Amino acid sequence: MQIIEWGQPLQLREYETPRPSGDQILLSVEACGVCHSDLHIHQGFFDLGGGKTFPVSSRGVVPPFTLGHEPVGKVISVGSKDQEHLIGKSFLIYPWINCEVCQSCKVGMSQVCDAPKIIGTRVDGGYSDHVVVPHKKFLIDYTGIDPYLACTLSCSGLTVYSALKKLNLESLTEADRLVIIGAGGLGLAAINIAKFMTKAKLIVLDLDDAKLEIARDIGADFTVSSSIDEPQNKIMEFVSDDNGVAACLDFVGMNQTMALGLSVLRKGGTHVHVGLHGGAHELSLPPLSFKMLKIIGSYVGTLEECKELVELVKGGLDIKVPIRTLPLEKANQAIEDLRNGVVAGRTVLTP
Ligand code: NAD
Repeated sequence: MQIIEWGQPLQLREYETPRPSGDQILLSVEACGVCHSDLHIHQGFFDLGGGKTFPVSSRGVVPPFTLGHEPVGKVISVGSKDQEHLIGKSFLIYPWINCEVCQSCKVGMSQVCDAPKIIGTRVDGGYSDHVVVPHKKFLIDYTGIDPYLACTLSCSGLTVYSALKKLNLESLTEADRLVIIGAGGLGLAAINIAKFMTKAKLIVLDLDDAKLEIARDIGADFTVSSSIDEPQNKIMEFVSDDNGVAACLDFVGMNQTMALGLSVLRKGGTHVHVGLHGGAHELSLPPLSFKMLKIIGSYVGTLEECKELVELVKGGLDIKVPIRTLPLEKANQAIEDLRNGVVAGRTVLTP
């Protein structure tokens, strides 16, 4: 199911099945999650605010293009004989393929590699019956995990895990508060992952009451509707020491959500900016210094972090994000539903 024209419905196209060569591995896709980032790419640009955009084509991505950066699949053929033992095995595909030689890769930030070949955002991805992976090192054994959950770990779960790891969670107690903005695919996954990693209580925000209900069902300690006047006052009602929250994880990423997050941080608090809904934000500068605030950008996660997360899930970390499956041919419905805000949790496409 390919983008043929930016913003227009995806089209089902048929091609000859690729033949892997060298280190390449060909997998038949078993499931592929639909991330909100797919919507940004589908429209052809990211919103930089003030009328400015960042066109996806400036990264060299041009239609026809196949979305899908959350695939799991079964190996059906390999480029070299020494990999034949992989045939027939199912794997989670780490899609954030990096070059390993640029400065970012060398300092452990492979997810912001200078020459990435990311599956589903730079090269053809998992909205397909087949996907090619350049090397076996990007395949992760997910034995014991439901494939429909496993696929979401490679972006949704990983992004949340990596964002949480940027916080000093070990030092937090039950008296501390973390704010999660956005109870969509990422924000809901963040509830169970955060609960696993910290004792701090979670305050979850969304515009949609139905999503807040799910958030409470799966473990949020407090929920606040972002659609009320002055939601920051409601958040502060749940803060025990009057100072503010330890950290805010913004899984929406707009002017309003950053303003809200920064307004409830306590001294030394951290705002982790993850969501890519876009826009621009005007910032009063003295409070950054007076309150020693930190603003961190976080982008997906490393291969090592992905493996760590998979091990945690195998070991009992229970991510309760609701998942619905749709046949691959219904990819347009999946995208429209997500755009219209009617997806609770994650949609997973199955070829
Ligand atoms: P989603 O559509 O499943 O969830 C977004 C949620 O935000 C929805 O529940 C929606 O109701 C809620 N929301 C929208 N506006 C809001 C507001 N003003 N206040 C509170 N809640 C609001 O999307 P997702 O797949 O969870 O992705 C979320 C964002 O994160 C997207 O922009 C996506 O592109 C981005 N993303 C970033 C990274 C990264 O590495 N930085 C990785 C994956 C996704």
